[in-house]
Amino acid sequence: MPTLINGKEVSEKIQQEIAAEVEQLIKAGKRKPHLAAVLVGNDPASQTYVNSKIKTCEKVGFTSSLVRFDENVTETELLKKIEEMNEDAGLDGYIVQLPLPKHISEQKVIEAVKPSKDVDGFHPINVGRLVLNLPTYISATPYGIVHLLEYYKIETQGKHCVVIGRSNIVGTPMSILMAKNTPLANCTVTLCHSKTKNLKEHTLQADIVIAAIGRPNFVTGDMVKQGAVVIDVGINRVTSTETKSGFKLVGDVKFDEVAPKCSFITPVPGGVGPMTIASLLKNTLLAAKKEIYK
Ligand code: NDP
Repeated sequence: MPTLINGKEVSEKIQQEIAAEVEQLIKAGKRKPHLAAVLVGNDPASQTYVNSKIKTCEKVGFTSSLVRFDENVTETELLKKIEEMNEDAGLDGYIVQLPLPKHISEQKVIEAVKPSKDVDGFHPINVGRLVLNLPTYISATPYGIVHLLEYYKIETQGKHCVVIGRSNIVGTPMSILMAKNTPLANCTVTLCHSKTKNLKEHTLQADIVIAAIGRPNFVTGDMVKQGAVVIDVGINRVTSTETKSGFKLVGDVKFDEVAPKCSFITPVPGGVGPMTIASLLKNTLLAAKKEIYK
């Protein structure tokens, strides 16, 4: 049977390390790192994500704040608030929870965030710095996956990694990270998407499969070779008769079929998800210590 990658445990460890660093900062007379989240509207999934980010901030000793807007807020009002947050010396980093209502341009908002406070790592300058191997805030989900591979000492050098999905926030930065010339990467990377022909031919070649598609149970047992490492990024809400709520969360990987073939696999929930928050806090600590932008 495969080793189950326990993202909750690794995330807890990272949070403890961050909390210890916060104590050191305070001992040195500095203030607590401060992360803010901007939430527009009432999307239940977004509210859950933001609440758990705030709760984890408190746990590690950060200051956190929540800026809420009604879903009818205008783009101009939102951009004005972003401008204020950019200039707020008491704020180290902030995120604007996506998705935003259709009348607001996400790209405009992403580009309005000051790169030095962009702890989500979505600003074109930070993405460009990632591509060029310069210090940057790495997008939280891919960064969390790199931590998981490192923690479980999963060999990546010279391995073939197939990433399925090429979104700006997961698939694309993931493929860049895995191809980097560093001991924690050095993979040969294939980036697949909805126009990829014969996807299974690619995934069957993979030593490491990273699925970030957003389709429940998409990766099946016949698509994965024996001994592969499988990282499931997907969070899909499906109807279920097994839960009181009538819903449950499943990944992009058909776990029961794929797991028996794997050397390592992440469950959903409890795999990649908890790492995303840990990485966001890591980026905020870097911002507070001015390690990326002086
Ligand atoms: P997007 O919808 O932005 O991107 C999905 C990608 O999958 C696209 O590149 C798309 O291709 C590709 N795709 C869709 N259908 C197929 C197909 N049939 N074959 C091959 N590729 C396909 O999603 P995200 O990247 O934002 O998220 C992916 C999943 O990860 C979601 O379930 C999301 O909820 C989850 N997620 C989890 C996080 C966590 O913390 N664990 C954080 C962020 C996301 P194309 O580009 O051609 O359209």
